[in-house]
Amino acid sequence: MIEARNLCKSYRNGRETVAVLHNLSLELEPGETVAVTGPSGCGKSTLLNLLNGLSRPDAGVLEVFGSTPADDDAWAALRRSRIATLFQDGNLIPTLTVARNLAFRAGLAGRSADGAAALLEALDIAAVAERYPDQLSGGQRQRAALACAFAIEPRLMLADEPTGSLDEATASRVMPLFVEAVRQRGLTALIVTHNPELAGRCDRVLRLHEGGLVPCP
Ligand code: ADP
Ligand code: ADP
Repeated sequence: MIEARNLCKSYRNGRETVAVLHNLSLELEPGETVAVTGPSGCGKSTLLNLLNGLSRPDAGVLEVFGSTPADDDAWAALRRSRIATLFQDGNLIPTLTVARNLAFRAGLAGRSADGAAALLEALDIAAVAERYPDQLSGGQRQRAALACAFAIEPRLMLADEPTGSLDEATASRVMPLFVEAVRQRGLTALIVTHNPELAGRCDRVLRLHEGGLVPCP
């Protein structure tokens, strides 16, 4: 599903070049749910941005769904319909209601929004479907973002600190729903998280350490 070999990524900081990822390798099997942990600044977002094609490795080989996407357009097509990225603050369009956000994302992916009502129901946000993002609580906004991510019917779900903006009680309510929805759909997921409860629900936990991934006992 995902095969990364010896990925390297550095940033220029003034005159200095700082290596963030160094010979990082990763294999994700179809349907596998993997958590990635590590301290702030260790390169977790950098890794996600390589996996969704928003940035390119300096070196190494990255294959998704069996091949290396040829160019920016190929990556953009994957992001529209096969690779969903869920951000900490949710990436909802502020001028659209929840229902329209969902229909818009589904439409971009060439999917029907027929399942939308059921999705909102399952995530317990059907009652706020006609509200705009700034009229939602943090937990509702996060669940709306989840609904949008699932609406594109991706094969790979990437999540960057999905509990980051939630209080503990809300995180405990929303995260089981998230992992359950991922598993029900047979999606492959890579979830960056500091939340032990969320990590514990995944099949494997990896730690990003000195630019590479090591298994976490
Ligand atoms: P994490 O997600 O684990 O907090 P990041 O991947 O965001 O880590 O960042 C890893 C390191 O790379 C940090 O030191 C950060 O300051 C640096 N970095 C990230 N993005 C850039 C960028 N666009 N330009 C320069 N440095 C960056
Ligand atoms: P295009 O230019 O062809 O519209 P984009 O790269 O702008 O392609 O967007 C393609 C898809 O990727 C869209 O569905 C959009 O929602 C999603 N997307 C855009 N920016 C990001 C981002 N920073 N993180 C995750 N997904 C993104």
